[in-house]
Amino acid sequence: MLGFLEESEGKTFTREEILQALTELTSQQDFVLNPDKEKVELLMMGMVENETNHGLKYCPCRMTTENFEEDLKLVCPCNFKIQKVWREQGECWCTLFVRRKNES
Ligand code: SF4
Repeated sequence: MLGFLEESEGKTFTREEILQALTELTSQQDFVLNPDKEKVELLMMGMVENETNHGLKYCPCRMTTENFEEDLKLVCPCNFKIQKVWREQGECWCTLFVRRKNES
């Protein structure tokens, strides 16, 4: 999950680039971007806003703590598969990512 963070270090991405990176991230995973494009757009805007205001693409629906080490856990994509909401509902906390449905 940290690949996206490492690649983005020191660079500001546009929303289109973020969307492309997130789409590529999900291509081989058991989760996909939420099919609700408006929701995804809003969440990406939140991420870009967090980067502008706080320096990194922090989760758009959680508050940073001002403790850098702790806040690194909030950089999107986070380790959302450890969250109860993933296990029970198949989505990350913000619903940016949702479990891939069986396509068979
Ligand atoms: S909960 Fe979802 S949107 Fe928030 S950081 Fe994690 S993966 Fe990103």
